[in-house]
Amino acid sequence: MHILLMGPPGAGKGTQAANIVKEFEIPHISTGDMFRAAIKEGTELGKKAKACMDAGNLVPDEITVGIVRERLAKDDCKRGFILDGFPRTVDQADALTKILKEVGIELKCALNVNVPAADLVERAVGRRICKFCGATYHVKFNPSKKDGVCDMCGGELFQRADDTEETMKNRLSVYESSTRPLIEYYKNAGLYVEVDGRQEINKVYEDIVELLNK
Ligand code: ADP
Ligand code: AMP
Repeated sequence: MHILLMGPPGAGKGTQAANIVKEFEIPHISTGDMFRAAIKEGTELGKKAKACMDAGNLVPDEITVGIVRERLAKDDCKRGFILDGFPRTVDQADALTKILKEVGIELKCALNVNVPAADLVERAVGRRICKFCGATYHVKFNPSKKDGVCDMCGGELFQRADDTEETMKNRLSVYESSTRPLIEYYKNAGLYVEVDGRQEINKVYEDIVELLNK
């Protein structure tokens, strides 16, 4: 099952992807996670991505498409994947269409987690992530049992450098201008489906499972 997971920053894509990969046993491919890993490792890719990410801008298409092309060529993608946070521009979507043709993969759907802009800043600013296992929490909507400590592995929770009110303003404006047009793109391709991402995390997941089992 090959799925694109779309939606504005902070909509809940990563949270839902974590559940989907467990249930459907497919790899979670998040371009944001790949860039953050490269930054942590101090690679050339990480150096190039960091300035864009810190400002809330997109990493250039050539770089982003390159890492996705490499990743999708791996064997574990044959059975399925959940692609989270890619594509984010029409050029990336065109590139993806070509890559998928080359590797002989057909998408099941482009699933949009629909959340109004008014809710997104609070979601991002309150987001906390485990340094070790990457589990995602929210200080108000999905708090860990012990403040600052991961329920899963006991790891320390941190706040992403780009999860500030100011950076979110730019990320949301970039979303509107560059990424929102992909809704039309995938509607035209006959692949678009959406869930109401304003609901509780478990209810959003139930709706997703229902769509994916159709
Ligand atoms: P994205 O990957 O789309 O940027 P995340 O999955 O990291 O978003 O979620 C952003 C923040 O919002 C996290 O702190 C997460 O715990 C919280 N969150 C996710 N889904 C919901 C929801 N349905 N209701 C309330 N908060 C949510
Ligand atoms: P995310 O983890 O999806 O919120 O992404 C964090 C940041 O990584 C974004 O604000 C961008 O700077 C960068 N990024 C992630 N995915 C892409 C993409 N498909 N194209 C360009 N930049 C991306």
